[in-house]
Amino acid sequence: SFAQSELLKSLPKQFFASLVDKVGKVIAEGHDVINLGQGNPDQPTPPHIVAALQKAAANPKYHKYSPFRGYSFLKEAVAAFYKREYGVTVNPEKEVAILFGGKAGLVEIPQCLLNPGDVVLVPDPGYPDYWSGVALARAEMAMMPLRAENGFLPDYRELKEDVSKKAKLMFLNYPNNPTGAIATKTFFEETVSFAEKHGICVIHDFAYGAIGFDGQKPISFLQAEGAKEVGIEIYTFSKTYNMAGWRIGFAVGNESVIAAINLLQDHLYVSLFGAIQEAAAVALLGSQQCVHELVSLYESRRNTLVHALREIGWNVTAPAGSFFAWLPVPTGWTSEQFADVLLEKAHVVVAPGIGFGEHGEGYVRVGLLTSEERLQEAAARIAKLNIFQR
Ligand code: PLP
Repeated sequence: SFAQSELLKSLPKQFFASLVDKVGKVIAEGHDVINLGQGNPDQPTPPHIVAALQKAAANPKYHKYSPFRGYSFLKEAVAAFYKREYGVTVNPEKEVAILFGGKAGLVEIPQCLLNPGDVVLVPDPGYPDYWSGVALARAEMAMMPLRAENGFLPDYRELKEDVSKKAKLMFLNYPNNPTGAIATKTFFEETVSFAEKHGICVIHDFAYGAIGFDGQKPISFLQAEGAKEVGIEIYTFSKTYNMAGWRIGFAVGNESVIAAINLLQDHLYVSLFGAIQEAAAVALLGSQQCVHELVSLYESRRNTLVHALREIGWNVTAPAGSFFAWLPVPTGWTSEQFADVLLEKAHVVVAPGIGFGEHGEGYVRVGLLTSEERLQEAAARIAKLNIFQR
């Protein structure tokens, strides 16, 4: 056997791998497990997008290598989508890069912009792939706590001056995984000023951009004045169009960052299967009825879950967006202990907050990715543990 590289060994431990093992054991024992721990959308891709792929897949033009850096028709569709949805003007050739899913972009960008030892501001709790991107660039993380009392937005005044001065890159993500929070325009404007002041590049992860509840449309970072001068936004088809298995997304914004992503990708891959790019353009330009229906479905599930949990005495806050609920752990337990008990005694899987960072402790994350019946069933099983008092 061959030894792993130091780089590979330096990658952060995958906290949720151990959860998958624990869940596997309970399933192997023959229990009916309700898995609310994962983030895998349960709905199929809308049929008109699948049909577009099927048709395009038969076109021999797509059986060859796709053009490097993607088809122009897709980049133009991205520009049209940003104009239509957010009123933001984007240059399709200079300000858009096609990605193999959002995750690829998030992990690649630190390697595009950083040197070993550079500092990256990372939200805590946050999506663990940011940590992987930082580690692969041999850079260092400085955590930005997201606190309930600040609406789970980082408070830049809380950061030490020397950390802000050293930081080269910052990750943000709204609607937020795991907290379900949505950002305000004022917050994004403050972010632009902070980034300008310290010369920081902002990467806004807009994976849940389509999913806002109670009629709230989540705003794009690029809607903040000057945002394109200081950063980019990463968008993915995975959540908005239930295309998680298709592996396609894009980056939009700062021209120099887009050029850097394109340059790195020239060394890593030729562009994705052209038929997928064609279907993705259909998703962006076609009817958005499927997106409205999806948001209503998640909202209805959210309402059911929140209602059912409050009924059993669990005092939870309803998420404003994303498809996650961020629920407080009762006093006396760590998030991991609590998740273990729910798994072992109620056969309900939730993701312990500590897996998203130190400031995730005290919470568990629940996905709205199963039917309302199953969400109610999960609440009923938890009620039987007599942890909560009505
Ligand atoms: N960003 C966040 C916050 C996510 O939760 C996810 C997926 O779970 C992604 C990015 C990546 O999505 P994909 O790689 O499927 O585009």
